[in-house]
Amino acid sequence: MTETRSTCPYCGVGCGVIIESDGTQITGVRGDPDHPANFGRLCTKGSTLHLSAAAPVTRATRLLQPLQRLSRGSTPQPVGWEAAHTLAADRFARIIREHGPDAVGFYLSGQLLTEDYYVFNKLAKGLIGTNNVDTNSRLCMSSAVAGYKRTLGADAPPCSYEDFALADTVFISGSNTAWAHPILFRRLEDARRARPDQRWIVVDPRRTETADSADLFLQIQPGTDVALYHGMLHVMLWDGLTDLSYIAAHTEGFDALRDTVRSWTPAEAARVCGIAEDDLVQAARWFAQSDRRDARDGRVGTTMSLYCQGLNQSAAGTDKNAALINLHLATGQIGVPGAGPFSLTGQPNAMGGREVGGLSNLLSAHRDLGNPAHRAEVAALWGVSDVPAQPGRSAIEMFQAAADGEIRALWIACTNPAQSLPDATTVQRALERCEFVVVQEAFSTTATCAYADLLLPATTWGEKDGTVTNSERRISRVRPAVAAPGQTRHDWSIGVQFARALEARLPERLNGRPTLFPYPTPESIWNEHRESTRGRDLDITGLSYGLLDEIGPQQWPMAEGEARGRDRLYEDGVFPTASGRARFSAMAYRPVAEPRDARYPFALNTGRLRDQWHGMSRTGTLGRLFGHVAEPAIELNANDLARRGLAEGDLVEVSSRRGSIVLPLVVSDTVAPGQAWIPMHWGGEVLGGRDAEGAPRLGVNELTLPTNCPTSRQPELKHCAVRIEKAALP
Ligand code: SF4
Repeated sequence: MTETRSTCPYCGVGCGVIIESDGTQITGVRGDPDHPANFGRLCTKGSTLHLSAAAPVTRATRLLQPLQRLSRGSTPQPVGWEAAHTLAADRFARIIREHGPDAVGFYLSGQLLTEDYYVFNKLAKGLIGTNNVDTNSRLCMSSAVAGYKRTLGADAPPCSYEDFALADTVFISGSNTAWAHPILFRRLEDARRARPDQRWIVVDPRRTETADSADLFLQIQPGTDVALYHGMLHVMLWDGLTDLSYIAAHTEGFDALRDTVRSWTPAEAARVCGIAEDDLVQAARWFAQSDRRDARDGRVGTTMSLYCQGLNQSAAGTDKNAALINLHLATGQIGVPGAGPFSLTGQPNAMGGREVGGLSNLLSAHRDLGNPAHRAEVAALWGVSDVPAQPGRSAIEMFQAAADGEIRALWIACTNPAQSLPDATTVQRALERCEFVVVQEAFSTTATCAYADLLLPATTWGEKDGTVTNSERRISRVRPAVAAPGQTRHDWSIGVQFARALEARLPERLNGRPTLFPYPTPESIWNEHRESTRGRDLDITGLSYGLLDEIGPQQWPMAEGEARGRDRLYEDGVFPTASGRARFSAMAYRPVAEPRDARYPFALNTGRLRDQWHGMSRTGTLGRLFGHVAEPAIELNANDLARRGLAEGDLVEVSSRRGSIVLPLVVSDTVAPGQAWIPMHWGGEVLGGRDAEGAPRLGVNELTLPTNCPTSRQPELKHCAVRIEKAALP
């Protein structure tokens, strides 16, 4: 038996795993006791990785050779790799020549490794000259990126998992940590067991398992987070709980924020949020450590915030993030052990994608597309004459542009937009209208595969080699335990081969060089990436593959000459802004984008189950992972049933302004009256068959709203207005 140290591919906790294999097959998996994220623990998903790795191959759900579809709707036919790359390069080059570089787009994934991301980002922005490269991480953390940048000056979560054990108050907002980040939740439980005086405040429209563990639960109305934070700051100001010396020494813009929150009395904020005023006041006092303001055992009380999609997936996502960070700056709860605003990433490498600039508005190493000096630095690094200044299209915009005929070729890598993007009908129209769609995938079963003109088989977890970065900025190695099956190739390699084929057709972008992609290995890509970070906030010039092997996973930054990564940021009170001060953000409260009304009287929320992952391409192959929740359903409060003539178990039709789906009704006290919840994992025919035109109904995103945050461009997946009626059975 061979043992290989690697990283779990399911979520941003980034647990270390030890893969057991017999040389050809993965036979087992266990938690890596030496990995600082999990110290040997794994959750239900992670502990079944070996089974989900084997199942797709045995059940023929794995893509094992390139396939070409000669006409839409036809059965795809095998094609050789060389012919596949020739076809793709011919089609992309023709569209670029006839319609310009912005007529093509790349849609990537937080599942990709940092090295994969780097190649595709350089391919789009460097070789082709379009910033139309975005990722499904847009759906999970772009509001956190924008919130950090607006307030702290850089996209850098300042905390570590170690801070859980050092916090006096843990403020969990818009995160069902118990289900979405289970190993972190175990660490939180450990912390509270060791420190029974640690207090948990949970803010969520749903009474989740996380909320059930809270000392104080604020069940706010959907989308009212900014009103809550403004009300809490009002209380802190009134009670004299802000840290005036920290504000004076390390921040700017407080006067404008103070003016903004003046009208947010606790009574008004509690009214808007739909909670008790006393609870809001209590939350403000615990957050500001009103009873622990003086040195206690030599230290002042500390507050740490954990937050995730409840804040991010919102048309006011950046405001929500920034308003929470305001509270930390106002109380000086940042840059000390046990304190700080800590955004949890959803996907295993959402953070790594940010590091290489894998979003349509970013460049390598946290550089900004809008900054001419940053564009020039990246162009020089890549050896191209320029990086275009025109911002690329974000995820929603990219598919809307394809539906409008402005984007004519799409390259989709390692993600399933036909199921996961909001307003699935528009996404379907985009994929149908696009002249040429390439899908680079490990699994043949995703809804998006049905739209591909060219299907390229990629390797997946257990086969790939590279790095990922978890929520606490910790870079871990991903290592192969078995050889690539069939004709599958690594994602970075598929990108490099395509780039070289395209270079032959676009030689003017090469500046006389033989190739911009001289990469024989993922390590060679990593070395170029780490050089791009020199002098930046995430400087990792001191971190090589060899050192990662030697000293284990490290948190960035780790500049050349440093012995280890940094566990906490901003301890010196200096922020990466022009003035060196953190910036308060004074924003008006904006309610949800699509309020309930008489026609659509329910607020629909969507989210993740404990044991499933994304569109279930991995977890859906394992029966044991359906033991927790076996089938999709809509959850409603018991108080909403009688007057609508509904009963538990009924099949109901759920309709929004964009579409409808049919699924069973389950009564649950996790949702408040007037609200509903549907898990995001199921799609395709499970949820109600085909519509009148014969197109498959693709799941909850038939209903959701594409409206997105004007700053982060993250869509409001957590709220839309729906109608719920007993389904008319045939
Ligand atoms: Fe994997 Fe996340 Fe579970 Fe850890 S918590 S084992 S990273 S799914």
